[in-house]
Amino acid sequence: MTLIRLTLESARQVARELNKLGLNSPVLLEGVGQDPLDVLIATLLSQASGDQVTQGIFRELKGRYPGWAGLARAPLFEVEEILRRGGLAKQKSQRLKEILSQLESEQGALSLTPLLEGTDEQAMAKLLQLAGVGPKTAACVLLFALGRPVFPVDTHVLRVSRRLGWVGAKETAPRAQDLLSRIIPEDLHLSLHTDLIRFGREICRANTPRCYHCPLAEECDYARGRMLA
Ligand code: SF4
Repeated sequence: MTLIRLTLESARQVARELNKLGLNSPVLLEGVGQDPLDVLIATLLSQASGDQVTQGIFRELKGRYPGWAGLARAPLFEVEEILRRGGLAKQKSQRLKEILSQLESEQGALSLTPLLEGTDEQAMAKLLQLAGVGPKTAACVLLFALGRPVFPVDTHVLRVSRRLGWVGAKETAPRAQDLLSRIIPEDLHLSLHTDLIRFGREICRANTPRCYHCPLAEECDYARGRMLA
């Protein structure tokens, strides 16, 4: 099963319903600014780590290593120590330093801006060459820093999209991201992405979705299946 009922209009309808809910819990990248390298670093830090912890770590790194040159030269153990209160500290500190080293040796500067010139596909391909950068992280950089027409699919967006029947129940995140990026209207990419994350956290929760309080229940494959069970 692939795409079932995701249309321009259904995306707009869902966006309107989520908007009416007035969900406004903080979403990590809204507070990070628009520098592409900052967005990349914050997104990498968010893996296996809650937003509040990630924001704290990001602020500490940015304060201690402004411009990121200090981070590129800091001993690994020092960076790992700062990252320790989030998850995967060892892996993430190695990746951060590897990315900065890649940028310095290949671009001669600690900046993603030259890398992201060119078409959306070229920019995506270049981001995916950086250590530990997958499709969702790359899409976050392209959307949040550059306003490019991509729709990042994280765990919440994927779960809600599957339950609504926008993508198949077993669709992978990268394939769902390709499909949703093509069909969801560009003007909704940023707001619907962040609203779906909030909706996934607050209402369409992984283990205990609040279907009885959900304005999308009538259109939702998952809710219909639960009611028939
Ligand atoms: S009806 Fe339930 S499963 Fe469907 S979108 Fe709403 S909360 Fe999620």
